[in-house]
Amino acid sequence: MADRDGVIWYDGELVPWRNATTHVLTHTLHYGMGVFEGLRAYEAAKGPAIFRLTEHTQRLFNSAHIFKMRIPFDQATLNDAQRAVVRENKLTSGYIRPIVFYGSEAMGLSARNLSVHVAVAAWPWGAYLGADGLENGIRVKTTSFTRHHVNINMCRAKSVATYTNSILAHQEVAQDGYHEALLLDVDGYVAEGSGENIFIVKQGKLYTPDLTACLEGITRASVMQLAQEIGIEVIEKRLTRDEVYCADEAFFTGTAAEITPIRELDCRSIGSGTRGPITERLQTLFFDCVNGRSNDHADWLHYV
Ligand code: PMP
Repeated sequence: MADRDGVIWYDGELVPWRNATTHVLTHTLHYGMGVFEGLRAYEAAKGPAIFRLTEHTQRLFNSAHIFKMRIPFDQATLNDAQRAVVRENKLTSGYIRPIVFYGSEAMGLSARNLSVHVAVAAWPWGAYLGADGLENGIRVKTTSFTRHHVNINMCRAKSVATYTNSILAHQEVAQDGYHEALLLDVDGYVAEGSGENIFIVKQGKLYTPDLTACLEGITRASVMQLAQEIGIEVIEKRLTRDEVYCADEAFFTGTAAEITPIRELDCRSIGSGTRGPITERLQTLFFDCVNGRSNDHADWLHYV
């Protein structure tokens, strides 16, 4: 991805894509303490718009706060940076990746007196789990890798180090032909996908794991709000994998995955084995919002 035209916002300046490099002794590269975000820009009715920009930037600052990393820019500056990379790379839609990482002043675990750097890149990105997945659902398998305990890597932070766990989980099931992994928490309850929150539908109600062991997803919050607005009750509670087996419908949510139906978990088909009606309804509401077709939640879109 390094060798392409375009610009990346790097510590306050837009630099040519190929020049956005860092030293091999960058602290974060060695010990994994860094935080990041993932956002989508959509081709909305009135031009490219970033979905829930301010909420993502707030989560980035929360993640940095958890790790005591002091971001040397304010939120407004980083909001402008995220708009700028979409605009200057002439994207009509795409994925935006802000990352906060330590500099290369010193090795060692004290991590004291290190500079904090921020880069923001953006590139075109289609459906993460495939266009077919959005329509027909994906096949998911429970992985043998457990999601982080709350006192291991801080589940409220979207941190670089969290994602070795996600990659292990995803690779384990992908090599057996599944589209995505489901991770359980240390007590064996459903946590989330490798990069998604999970929901199930049972008798017209929506259930999702409470926030103990999963990321506080911004798509998750949006879907909960959209569901409640059309009178669907949303319940956050511990879920077991066999509750998912017996659900009427199930789906993943995430910036990359958007709302992706799950048609099968551990070789048990879920509900009708295709996208369910409530999933489809929520997808329609969600895509109408993000594409600016609906006037509801206009404040979720930040035009670039
Ligand atoms: N869980 C994990 C582990 C993730 O990486 C993501 C993607 N950021 C999510 C959940 C969904 O979060 P969001 O809807 O904010 O993208």
